[in-house]
Amino acid sequence: MKKRIVIVGGGFGGVKCARALRKHLTPDQADIVVFNRENHMVFHPLLAEVVSGSVQAKDVAAPIRQLLSHVQCRSQDVTNIDPDTKKVFYEAFDMKPHSMEYDHLVLCCGNIVNLSLIEGMDDHAFPLKTVGDAFKLQSQIIEQMEEAEVCDCGERRKALLTFVVVGGGFSGVEVAGEINDLVRDSIRFYTNIHESDIKVIIVHSHKQLLPEISEHLRVFAQERMEKAGVTIMLNASAKMATPEGLHLKDGTFIRANTVVCTIGTTTQPLIEKLSFKKEHGRLVTETDMSLPGYPNVWAFGDCAAVINAQDGKVSPPLAQFSERQGAQAAKNIIARMNNQPTLPFKYEMQGVLCAIGGRDAVADIRGIRLSGLLAWFVWRGIYLLKLPSFTQQVKVGIEWGLDLMFPRPLAHLKADQTTRITRSRYAEGDFVFKRGEPATEFYIVEEGEVEVIQHESDNHGETIAVMGKGEFFGESSLLDRRTHNHSIRCKTAVTCTVFGRHIFTQVSAALMPLRTALAKASRNRSSIWKEIPDVKDVLELATAGSLMEPLLMAPVNTSASVETVCQGMDAHGADLCCVVDEQQHLVGVITRSDLLRVIDKPAFADPDVDVPVTEIMVLKPVFAAQECTLAAAVALMRDHDLKQIPIVDSKDNKTPRGRLNIEKVVVYMLKESMQRKQKQPSAVAH
Ligand SMILES: Cc1cc2nc3c(=O)[nH]c(=O)nc-3n(C[C@H](O)[C@H](O)[C@H](O)COP(=O)(O)OP(=O)(O)OC[C@H]3O[C@@H](n4cnc5c(N)ncnc54)[C@H](O)[C@@H]3O)c2cc1C
Repeated sequence: MKKRIVIVGGGFGGVKCARALRKHLTPDQADIVVFNRENHMVFHPLLAEVVSGSVQAKDVAAPIRQLLSHVQCRSQDVTNIDPDTKKVFYEAFDMKPHSMEYDHLVLCCGNIVNLSLIEGMDDHAFPLKTVGDAFKLQSQIIEQMEEAEVCDCGERRKALLTFVVVGGGFSGVEVAGEINDLVRDSIRFYTNIHESDIKVIIVHSHKQLLPEISEHLRVFAQERMEKAGVTIMLNASAKMATPEGLHLKDGTFIRANTVVCTIGTTTQPLIEKLSFKKEHGRLVTETDMSLPGYPNVWAFGDCAAVINAQDGKVSPPLAQFSERQGAQAAKNIIARMNNQPTLPFKYEMQGVLCAIGGRDAVADIRGIRLSGLLAWFVWRGIYLLKLPSFTQQVKVGIEWGLDLMFPRPLAHLKADQTTRITRSRYAEGDFVFKRGEPATEFYIVEEGEVEVIQHESDNHGETIAVMGKGEFFGESSLLDRRTHNHSIRCKTAVTCTVFGRHIFTQVSAALMPLRTALAKASRNRSSIWKEIPDVKDVLELATAGSLMEPLLMAPVNTSASVETVCQGMDAHGADLCCVVDEQQHLVGVITRSDLLRVIDKPAFADPDVDVPVTEIMVLKPVFAAQECTLAAAVALMRDHDLKQIPIVDSKDNKTPRGRLNIEKVVVYMLKESMQRKQKQPSAVAH
């Protein structure tokens, strides 16, 4: 009877297995069905070459149906499996789950990138797993060079031309070498970029690069890469990625616009879902690659922990192992169909190859160690032959030939035109943007606090406002289509929701309440003094402390009751009460109108219970330090619609010392302006 063999995953292992099965089984004997998420198989070893432009993106993606004749290829995600009823489930065109029965099931769906190992990588680092990843990274690198060419700010240029690769394994070394080649080979086309501006850095947490190869080759690789300009940081662990760069665990911060992450993989969601036994997220198999208790379910490749009978160890997640396992699994399936004994997986590793950039490579093939140009030719020759289709071999061969003669293409084809809503994380002290930078995004603070910095000169800036959760910024520059007038610096670690320009314009145009809120915020934030420079001068020359009035009521601590505050305010005629913690630092304020909130508290109805002030106080209150300029303090009051705010001792000591009242500021402002006018010599009429 005709059998159906379903293969989930059309990568290295799946394609090899399907080919081997079809070679030995006629279409009358078995239907072979391959489910693969994409319609192509990705040749990962050449992804780094796509980044540098030596190979075209489409030439490392082989369409599966062109590789496999007489095989049913389905570009669909398998969503679940039921080994008891022998069914695979997949989502069909109608978005509903459909199922297909199988006689034998092969699971070889690889693994996925796990950027969440390091904070911020998910949002700010570039992975390298798919053709899209490689293409996008290439696009990013060229974009940075274009921007650096026209950027006058030295610090920003440095960040644009610094490329950090996290991970010093094969992929990390290869991609760092390729980025280094691309950038350094291309600077002759850029008049303002100099060799010394470029930094390509590998951050590797172990004490040696490429731990899988021999000491001699490793030293060679490191020396050659360093000579070519790659900085190698060993024993250095990444801690957090931000839009500004990479923080290391030892406190070092590398300012860089491009961070590539080549470490971290995790289990495919489908495998995660299955209840079969797993080891470190990989399916545990029998030695013949069938699953324990399920002789018709097979697993291999990166998603399975297959023991290699050659050395008794779990096979490493490498293409050469997946391919061999695919071929061997096909033989075992046929053996089982014919009630014959199956064979354990046994394979002697052929060797390792790694290109290190600059037309150099290191290779260890069956004990023969090669390095330099010869190894590079061997590397290219072997991978050319390993490409899954003859068409790809010819195309890549021609591209490599041309690459030896002509410069790499620098056309910046934008991979992603659609601006998105993303989330960005920043560390304390990071700048979200700086004055003078073009406005491209709108930000809403999700967690933490940012400072708005007004600049008097390039070197001197003053904090004029602090924004916290729920507040937003970046809208005025976007709406006015101009560069930023202020800088935004993170006072604490901050998480923001970020709207790209395109989506922000669409949403703000369509949503009336948002437009009104933005207009109001924009009006508030625009300098009221810009039309009256005299007043601006007056406010900038005086400090908040100089107009500070005493607090009418002494601060209370957090354990005080609302009743005490109420009596205190009444007795002293105060309409503002500061609440302080044990260190006497301001933690909240209560105004007369806040007192009304106590009525909503259920405890208020109980005469025996004292409602604590913490129940009704305004947390994270708006305040200014004594040394803060009046201009900054008034801007804060305007932003928050407040007539008075507490004044604290200093930026570092939040002990309340007094209060600033807007009426007093207005009187002072008028008096000072009039005095100035009187001092000015009167104009002489001609
Ligand atoms: C940048 C990079 C460079 C590398 N360089 C080398 C190298 O030089 N030498 C080497 O030996 N190895 C290298 N590797 C490792 C090698 O690529 C993997 O070991 C190999 O791809 C594993 O093969 P596989 O068949 O198990 O999985 P894959 O080749 O990853 O194929 C899995 C396929 O399954 C599909 N899939 C997953 N889930 C589902 C689902 N639910 N439904 C349908 N389809 C699904 C995926 O889309 C994918 O196409 C490299 C890897 C990377 C990322």
